[in-house]
Amino acid sequence: MSARILDGKAIAAELKDSVKQKVEKMVAEGNRAPGLVVILVGENPASQVYVRNKQNSCEQVGFYSELKRLSVDTTQAELLSLIDELNGREEVDGILVQLPLPGHIDEETVTERILPTKDVDGFHPYNMGRLTLRMPLLRPCTPKGVMTMLEKTGVDLVGKDAVIIGQSNIVGRPMALELLAARCTITICHSKTRDLEEKVRNADIVVAAVGVPKFVKGEWVKPGATVIDVGINRLDDGTLCGDVDYDSAAEHAEWITPVPGGVGPMTVATLLENTLQAAEMHKDA
Ligand code: NAD
Repeated sequence: MSARILDGKAIAAELKDSVKQKVEKMVAEGNRAPGLVVILVGENPASQVYVRNKQNSCEQVGFYSELKRLSVDTTQAELLSLIDELNGREEVDGILVQLPLPGHIDEETVTERILPTKDVDGFHPYNMGRLTLRMPLLRPCTPKGVMTMLEKTGVDLVGKDAVIIGQSNIVGRPMALELLAARCTITICHSKTRDLEEKVRNADIVVAAVGVPKFVKGEWVKPGATVIDVGINRLDDGTLCGDVDYDSAAEHAEWITPVPGGVGPMTVATLLENTLQAAEMHKDA
């Protein structure tokens, strides 16, 4: 079997286009465009690329956007005070603090300082709690983007066995909550999981968010399964690869996401979708 490719780039372009049209309509009706402020602390090279991507995408869909570049020795108090200021600014619908932060700043304290209705990353305990209780508001971007991709396959998720490898707060856990809400039976695997290979062999849906290149081997994949590769790993030769051994997995899966061009573009497009959602909430408040 040769898998069908779940083209994240194309689905993300569609999503961006739909956001752009909604923004045009909003503005034509006399409202201001949605506004996103991204905060970057320090000079992490990967973060700089991600932030640039987010800025460019904001421009493409007609958002107002600002980048706040802070030096690596910014204190936690200074960062919290900037968030307080942005929480109070009416034209700012979304605040995104690019992670990771320098070691002297506590990420949880910073995440909790953002107003939940401006938390377009969906990481605030309030938004995670709402997702847990099946009353989602702003949902974490990467797992939400994966759900948009899964919808495109037309595969009925109800009752399916889903295995999520990775239990991070930003990907694995919210991914499991999303799939549970879609009425899958979920198994969350992590570094202490026993018989992981056996669990993957029984999965109708596999989501890999491990951070280890080609961790999931093709022969583990059940024939006809859907394989979602969240991993982004840079190899020594400079190329990118995912957490799934793509070539061998594609021989077993029905659907598979490539890396690059799979989940990555969906994360950015979903951030735009969340910022638009926040703007609509603020407009109606
Ligand atoms: P993380 O390091 O926080 O979490 C990794 C998880 O993998 C942990 O829960 C750990 O228990 C588990 N793990 C590690 N080794 C394992 C093993 N041998 N067996 C089973 N589980 C194991 O990482 P993260 O932030 O969740 O990111 C995971 C990957 O996804 C990374 O490659 C990251 O770059 C990528 N990522 C991609 C996007 C995107 O937009 N595509 C977004 C976020 C993260």
